[in-house]
Amino acid sequence: MEEWVWDGGRPSIDLLNTVRDRALDARETLRTPDDLALWLRAARLFDGDVDGDDLTAARALRTAIDALAYPADGSSPAASVEVVNTAAAEAPSDPRLALTDGRLVAVPPEPSVAAALGRIALDAIDLVTGKDLLRVCAADDCGIRFVDRSPARNRQWCSMRRCGNRTKARRHYARTGP
Ligand SMILES: [Zn+2]
Repeated sequence: MEEWVWDGGRPSIDLLNTVRDRALDARETLRTPDDLALWLRAARLFDGDVDGDDLTAARALRTAIDALAYPADGSSPAASVEVVNTAAAEAPSDPRLALTDGRLVAVPPEPSVAAALGRIALDAIDLVTGKDLLRVCAADDCGIRFVDRSPARNRQWCSMRRCGNRTKARRHYARTGP
């Protein structure tokens, strides 16, 4: 199973980080519907079967969120806005009232991949219109995205363990020589 990272700080950014090594040759970790099923379960968003259309939708949403949160120079956001809104429309609704044996019951919406992606899309809307500081890991071979919530707002690394320590060591050796 793929080693996914959960350092993004928000589900929408964790989805972006299913493309790894963006700073080098971007590496896809959601290669099959089963990969997406495992990721959604690990993210506690959905536990069930996933098909090829779901995978296509998840990747399209991921591309759109990345284009909005980390826009390239000169990119046009209109198409990405549309993708996020289409996904957000499938977000889980509020419970509905039902009568069961004469008693009133609140019935939660049926879980689905579309609803899970809808929740991610809602998170993305909050992300790109909010005040979160969006960053990219400072390691030159990483590219993991995250929200900087450090008290001094100076978080550099996706994680100290993954990138911080080894980059600091490398910089130290570069300065002092072998
Ligand atoms: Zn990193």
